[in-house]
Amino acid sequence: MIDPNYRQGDAKSDAFATNAMLNPAPEQTIPDGPTIPTVAYQMVKDETFAQTQPRLNLGTFVTTYMDEYATKLMNEAINVNYIDETEYPRVAVMCQKCINIVANLWNTPEKNRWKAGALAIGSSEACMLGGIAAWKRWIERRKKAGKPYDKPNFVISAGYQVVWEKFATLWNIEMRQVPLSTEHVTLDIDEAIKMCDENTICVVAIQGVTWTGLNDDVEALDAALEKYNAATGNELCIHVDAATGGYILPFLFPEKKWDFRLKWVLSISTSGHKFGLVYPGLGWVVWKDKQYLPGDMSFTVDYLGAEVTQVGLNYSRPAAQILGQYYQFIRLGFEGYKQVQYNSLTIAKYLHDQLALMPEFVNYSDEVPNPIVVWRMKPEVQSTAKWTLYDLQDKLQMKGWMVPAYAMPVNIENMVVMRVLCKQGFSRDMCDQLINDIKSAVEELNALEYPTTTRIAMEKNIPLKNKGRFNHTGK
Ligand SMILES: *Cc1c(COP(=O)(O)O)cnc(C)c1O
Repeated sequence: MIDPNYRQGDAKSDAFATNAMLNPAPEQTIPDGPTIPTVAYQMVKDETFAQTQPRLNLGTFVTTYMDEYATKLMNEAINVNYIDETEYPRVAVMCQKCINIVANLWNTPEKNRWKAGALAIGSSEACMLGGIAAWKRWIERRKKAGKPYDKPNFVISAGYQVVWEKFATLWNIEMRQVPLSTEHVTLDIDEAIKMCDENTICVVAIQGVTWTGLNDDVEALDAALEKYNAATGNELCIHVDAATGGYILPFLFPEKKWDFRLKWVLSISTSGHKFGLVYPGLGWVVWKDKQYLPGDMSFTVDYLGAEVTQVGLNYSRPAAQILGQYYQFIRLGFEGYKQVQYNSLTIAKYLHDQLALMPEFVNYSDEVPNPIVVWRMKPEVQSTAKWTLYDLQDKLQMKGWMVPAYAMPVNIENMVVMRVLCKQGFSRDMCDQLINDIKSAVEELNALEYPTTTRIAMEKNIPLKNKGRFNHTGK
């Protein structure tokens, strides 16, 4: 028997030949002493080793590929805290330049050199800031009119992303949901207007609905609000949650009006880490003009001649994403972004068409306005099949693909769908591999003699919604 102590502290041992590799990893308490870095590295690395390769995670909206220079730049800035603007003034200016670029992509009318906007950790924080500003503007109007301001609400489609539920809960603002239905696959404008009253702080329109990939019709909503406001003397505005669409529409559908060209769109948020092509976490929110950003939400600092306005919920935050975003803007330019998004959308349409040819499936929508493909089983196939999309999800996972199956929001919650995000890094060839894997998985599932557990659950009406190893609220 070898004395287990003979090699303790021996940095010459191979990582896998050390004592540490014989012991369970710490879970409750910090280890007594240090571990040599090669071993510590290996232990941490290996804990995540069995996970999906991020680029095969087709469920996520978030960037899983950046080129080497972007990665190098971001790694080199990993020790920079964005908030230390005195120490890193160029980062603050770079951030403001990104806000300007995004604001101009969205056709801001603001003439100031530095546009009103904010850096965020993702769309969640950006949506919160947009929502809070709308709330504060409403409070101001109510105060001026001598009216109560204790029962605010906002109106949004039931296809909202979970951040809006947080916004409602955290700030105690009632969320009025316009249900989705098979006829109204996006925000039902008439229903939305019916839900509005003098206590409505804003209507939220979504560009790139997380569940479906579709866009709410902001132009029609704007027209409806124009009428509503004229009739009621209200000043009901729109916040556009363009987490996805904010970086798709300007490049692929520049003629489509959804942004600051519309009268009542006063703020827009997006995820720089989705189709902004930057690793997580990065978000942006922009206001149509400084006057729409309540003064007490921001403070302005002058750095090297740049008036930097700071707005945000966080204090310290990584600066690397700003360098990553500014790099992408310079590296790709308008034309380059358009090429990347064009390829993603073209591959999404190809996948959409191929799925339509399969006898088992039907696409959620005929339209593919964003590089998001959402499909379900044909009801007549599902009623006789011995499997569900959850089983297909498991089969694909065995091949390394992460393709989530999830139940739709209220009103159509019995509809289970599957979603693929076609992002930069997902080529036509990879798409063909995925389609082949779907076909062979379906073939195996069709050959089952007995129903799967998820199929039995569906039969017995046991909600499948919580089967989720996936965040079905749609990251
Ligand atoms: C992803 C998403 C969010 C949340 O964005 P994060 O960047 O993940 O915080 C909000 N709204 C919509 C429509 C989204 O798709």
